[in-house]
Amino acid sequence: MSYSYNDKTVISKVLEKHIRKLHSLVGNAVTEDRFIIFGTGSTQVISAAVHALSPDNASSPARVVASIPYYSLYREQTDYFESMHFKFEGDASPWINTTNTSSTNLIEFVTSPNNPDGQLNKAVLHGPYVKAIHDLAYYWPHFTPIPAPADEDLMTFTLSKLTGHAGTRFGWAVIKKKSVYERMTMHMELNTMGVSRDSQLRALKLLKVILEGKGREIFEFGYKTMKARWEILNQTLSLSNRFSLQKIPPQYCTFFQEFRESSPAYAWLKCEREEEKDCYAVLKAANIIGRRGYMFSAEDRYVRLSMIKSRDDFDALIERLKELVSEEESVVKGT
Ligand code: PMP
Repeated sequence: MSYSYNDKTVISKVLEKHIRKLHSLVGNAVTEDRFIIFGTGSTQVISAAVHALSPDNASSPARVVASIPYYSLYREQTDYFESMHFKFEGDASPWINTTNTSSTNLIEFVTSPNNPDGQLNKAVLHGPYVKAIHDLAYYWPHFTPIPAPADEDLMTFTLSKLTGHAGTRFGWAVIKKKSVYERMTMHMELNTMGVSRDSQLRALKLLKVILEGKGREIFEFGYKTMKARWEILNQTLSLSNRFSLQKIPPQYCTFFQEFRESSPAYAWLKCEREEEKDCYAVLKAANIIGRRGYMFSAEDRYVRLSMIKSRDDFDALIERLKELVSEEESVVKGT
């Protein structure tokens, strides 16, 4: 097996065609007249994107920002690979009113639906020196209604959150500008010389299976499962004054052609008691392991709980939360 395909590229044209077909079927991204590149998970695609959007001749590095709470990889990876060209700056909000007056190059990560809170985020920064990476890892009908096809300059996706095959390590980007596409391609070639052809073959097989049933089977199953979990979790906490969950408004889903409730991949749980500032510790004492708010540059009053673990894990989570909530009730009743 050679490094490259017959056309001398490291991108399977058949797989690329299937990706375009899938986006058009789901209606979650515009891919006509766009470039597509592959990466070893969207983790690699994201690092290529930061590289490609950074100016290579400016006197100061591009500042990489995101709205809090944000996925920790953006900070960790950008810090680790920091160079003369880019630097992680943290929260996007202090830049909102400066983008028209300052000539600082900015790269904003926009995650929609957001990890950890499932919100359909939009870019908050706009201006001549602002670029964005739209991380659409969760923009599939099992996690969110799809109101319209995304048509951003640079969008990233991953098999991890589409079919659950995180270990295959396959992600891709849909890119408008040729120059950005070329810089990302160069990055991929120097970094890993393309994505494993075995992974590309596995990804192709998976996409073929999805497309066979026009996506109905996987997305209906996925949505039903995620929505049921979200409802059970909400019910479990409905009697609690101690814990609360994020609210995500229902929206019209163009894929399912009806209004759909949210069905997020993560719960963004808040400890409401003034004294319970370390929500992670509160849950840990009840044998529940979440990810602390600090990891998302938010307050530790928040914890992210995963809704995408195995059924056994989810059932155990609900059982343990029920115990916590019933303790609360017995304290109120004085029993
Ligand atoms: N973006 C977001 C928002 C994620 O949550 C994840 C995985 N947790 C990734 C990117 C990276 O995924 P992968 O490298 O598996 O494609």
